[in-house]
Amino acid sequence: MNTRLIRAVAAALLVSGIAVSGFAAEASQPAWGAAATCTIGATLREGSRGADVVCLETQLIARGLTGVIGPDDYFGPSTTQAVITFQIVHGLAADGIVGPRTRASLATVSAGSVAPGPPVPAHVLETRTIGTSVQGRPITAVRMGTPGGRVVMIVGIIHGDETKGALVTAALRTMATPAGIDLWLIDSMNPDGVAANTRGNANGVDLIRNFDVGWNYIPRSTTNHQYSGEFPEDQPESQAIAAFVTAIQPAVGIFYHQDANVVSVNGTRRLIPTAYSKLVDQGTGSVPCSQQCTGTAGTYVNHTVAGSTTFLVELPGSASVTPAMIRRHAAAVLAVAVL
Ligand SMILES: [Zn+2]
Repeated sequence: MNTRLIRAVAAALLVSGIAVSGFAAEASQPAWGAAATCTIGATLREGSRGADVVCLETQLIARGLTGVIGPDDYFGPSTTQAVITFQIVHGLAADGIVGPRTRASLATVSAGSVAPGPPVPAHVLETRTIGTSVQGRPITAVRMGTPGGRVVMIVGIIHGDETKGALVTAALRTMATPAGIDLWLIDSMNPDGVAANTRGNANGVDLIRNFDVGWNYIPRSTTNHQYSGEFPEDQPESQAIAAFVTAIQPAVGIFYHQDANVVSVNGTRRLIPTAYSKLVDQGTGSVPCSQQCTGTAGTYVNHTVAGSTTFLVELPGSASVTPAMIRRHAAAVLAVAVL
């Protein structure tokens, strides 16, 4: 077995409460069961050391903040960033210092959130072809994390000329998945549009106007590029996503776009997109449609899956998208997935 597989197996065993001494020793991991109940006695800040720091870092990681280096007994910059993320998500003053309010919030699990636990190391469990494009290109979903957990679906590309979201899904494949998250990543649901650098698919259909909820006919046009198709879901790409959504029932979903630099707040649990927007320092709002916002993918998911929180993230224009921004978005996905 390679190291990654050993870690994945060990993590799975740890989830079920079975200690794996080799893994624990290798990664200097505390016992997660004990960590879940550990208490931070003092105020901590960057530079702090000791058992309280181990407890803090364990609790942060167990709450989906998998970017922490550790847990170990040193409060470094990665821990500060995770504390700030936790504070933003939980409406606390985002100062990176673990005082009484942050400690109290860490000790409480909010109603509706996924129970804290050890993350699952980065590892693709399954690669599934969920459909085929007009020109025969596969549409592929990869699965990570905890099958049977909260289902989270991330779609990097729907418009073929807005491709930076696929960097977020690529980054997520390299990151540990928070406990209890059944994560599905789709780099692109419009591979023909990517190949041709067009908004629509190979038939010129704007896939975000093609879904079978609130669909309305928008004619083919060289100016608005929002052709709805002749009938709801008459395109193989939207059919593939619709069938996949019906099969996996995402509790949380994100579709990435460009260039409006905004997060749309949609779905049942508005806390999730609102927290996401704060973590990536983007505003919230609706994205203007030059025609009509009909037959959209996000509305389809929210309508089809009871209780789903599916929303749209508009990254900035490609010239403004940096590797640091991509990492920030990927970390935000994981941080809000557990809320
Ligand atoms: Zn778009």
